[in-house]
Amino acid sequence: MMSRERVLFVDHTGQIGGAELILMDVVQGRSESTAFLFDQGPLAKALSDRGPSVITSRWGIGLSRFRRDSSWLKALPLAGGLAAIIAELAHVARRHDVVYANSQKAFVLSAIANIVACKPLIWHLHDIISPAHFGALQRRLQVGLANRFAAKVIVPSEAAAAAFIAAGGRRALVEVVPNGLAVEPLPMSRQELRQRLGLPPGPLVGVFSRLARWKGQHILIEALAKLPGAHCIIVGDALFGEQDYAAELRKQVGELGLGDRVHFLGHRSDVPLLMQSVDAMVHPSIDPEPFGRTLVEAMLAGVPVIATDAGAAPDILEHGRAGMLVPPGDARALAEALDAVLAEPEILKPQLDYASRRARTHYSLARMLDSIGLLIRNVRPGAAV
Ligand code: UDP
Repeated sequence: MMSRERVLFVDHTGQIGGAELILMDVVQGRSESTAFLFDQGPLAKALSDRGPSVITSRWGIGLSRFRRDSSWLKALPLAGGLAAIIAELAHVARRHDVVYANSQKAFVLSAIANIVACKPLIWHLHDIISPAHFGALQRRLQVGLANRFAAKVIVPSEAAAAAFIAAGGRRALVEVVPNGLAVEPLPMSRQELRQRLGLPPGPLVGVFSRLARWKGQHILIEALAKLPGAHCIIVGDALFGEQDYAAELRKQVGELGLGDRVHFLGHRSDVPLLMQSVDAMVHPSIDPEPFGRTLVEAMLAGVPVIATDAGAAPDILEHGRAGMLVPPGDARALAEALDAVLAEPEILKPQLDYASRRARTHYSLARMLDSIGLLIRNVRPGAAV
């Protein structure tokens, strides 16, 4: 279906993280729309291939190095650049019907720009607004701007909705739209895939996230040390300035003598292939996740999931019915759960079938796109516009 609304999609990064993969689906076929990015990177081409024209701000270079848990005082040297982006945004927004901010930095600048542009403003909030992820001033600024200027705040889970409301966000703004994915299982056995990908034939587990401390890859490495003979692939890279953590992980692997059993594969664009090649997918985040696309990717691929019991994971896994839950930050509990899954995989068959059905019904791409399309079509200006 062709979409006629002229939407200005705004994202702060040029890199492709989970939120940007969702944006790539949302913009599909929207050739009347524009994507405005604060920074250069592979996202620009990925978006323009799908329909919208893309503008990369001349002023954004360096902004993505400003981490989301940084104090806003650190942004002061960037203030000139921020003001210039806001002016650019206000100018571009005038030719659009709706502004759709896809990250918190994008939302803050879009909200300020929108004081002039006066367009209905949607914030697709892909984060849990909590002290674990954002400083107090940032939280107050985001929620204050949302309450005053946003027409809708889309969140991917009840956990993300609850965090937004607990931080002072208006309940009436919130629309829960779970992330939707379309991944088809491949007609190939696990062992064939392993051969093709050059992966070891024995017990193999995987984690598929950008490298960041709160994503908890170090807990999986610690757990692996307790599982002699098991191998692990760590898929993902430090996309948003977490290079120190990436170096720490390699050091940890060296110190534990796991160099031949832990395989760092870097950022990959063939996650569905890699996902289907493992015996278990681990989602070891130590802080609550707003969603966790990789949970659904594993469910769709028929791969057992072990996730930490926080954020949206218990909801997606139906409190253990569609996957296993372990306490966050507990390497021993994770090792025990992995041991059970690797030892007797056939016991899990009913759970895997159930998980795959659940992923298809609750987390389909069509369902997400319908809900977001409807919100864009019907959105009216927010409180203060
Ligand atoms: N991903 C990817 N390549 C990688 C690592 C991860 O394409 O090397 C994908 C992964 O398959 C998932 C997304 O990135 O679709 C991560 O989304 P998630 O919700 O798990 O985390 P986020 O990055 O949004 O915090």
